[in-house]
Amino acid sequence: MHFNQLHINTPLMQSVALSQYINGNVWLKIEAMQPSGSFKTRGIGLACREYISNGAERLVTSSGGNAGLAVAYAGRKYGVKTTVVVPETTTQKAIELIQAEQAEVIVEGASWDESHQYACNLYKGESAYIHPFDDPLVWKGHATMIDEIAELELTPDAVVLSVGGGGLLCGVLEGLHRHGWTDVPVIAVETEGADSLRQAVLADKLVSLAAIESIATTLGAKRVTQTALDWTKKHKVINHVVSDLKAVEACAKFVDHHRILVEPACGASLSAIYQPIESLQDKRDILVVVCGGVGVSMKQLQKWLQELS
Ligand SMILES: *Cc1c(COP(=O)(O)O)cnc(C)c1O
Repeated sequence: MHFNQLHINTPLMQSVALSQYINGNVWLKIEAMQPSGSFKTRGIGLACREYISNGAERLVTSSGGNAGLAVAYAGRKYGVKTTVVVPETTTQKAIELIQAEQAEVIVEGASWDESHQYACNLYKGESAYIHPFDDPLVWKGHATMIDEIAELELTPDAVVLSVGGGGLLCGVLEGLHRHGWTDVPVIAVETEGADSLRQAVLADKLVSLAAIESIATTLGAKRVTQTALDWTKKHKVINHVVSDLKAVEACAKFVDHHRILVEPACGASLSAIYQPIESLQDKRDILVVVCGGVGVSMKQLQKWLQELS
């Protein structure tokens, strides 16, 4: 009982509203419904379960966002002490959400990279460090969202998803390959100023962005995982980069269309439908991963809209 899986099977729904913008049918995988508010519960939940089963007595991670919250949620559900190191830029609201899951929060580091360095050296020995996106267990857990689609007997002709550090991308690709869908193109969406995957593809090697210049801080990994870049060489991955404004506008439209509020990190993917991109125009069934995210409120969304337009 204690070690049950933490994620839920999320709804897959055909969106009449979004399908109006594009030739094909848009299918939404509503990961915003996961208990921690984003798909992260899938991979992180699985990784935490494995590490605890193998004897870890404490969970440690670094993230002021959805990954931190997912680890804190796992820690509470599994009854294990949890420490989340967050960068100084983390909002008070995010800290409170993590604390509400009974995790210890340590503020350390100007950016995620520094928090990560610090967290890696904490509680060595009895603890497991949960990397937000660079861990095969995390990918394995994220891949379960594709298993659920296969069970419903929908074969997507394209998948649209957002890329931060590339954990979601690696997981979805693992899932697609598990079901033999090796030729289904994946549209990998990033925001301008957080486009670490596109930059890596252009340079044909990992690059570190000097700074993250996007309000979609959830997508703000300065460097993607090597495995994400490797995937782009063996699977058709189409890079797509949108402005912060387009991402935020997509969030506002989506709230009106489906009454679901998501972060700009997720709006970025939705905007590939609202401003339909060329490579989707000939696709019949388009799967959009509605990755969710808790770092948003109606007030904040209005503020972004005003500041950016
Ligand atoms: C973590 C996250 C992403 C990016 O996922 P990566 O695995 O870092 O690429 C996108 N959207 C939301 C809402 C997230 O929480």
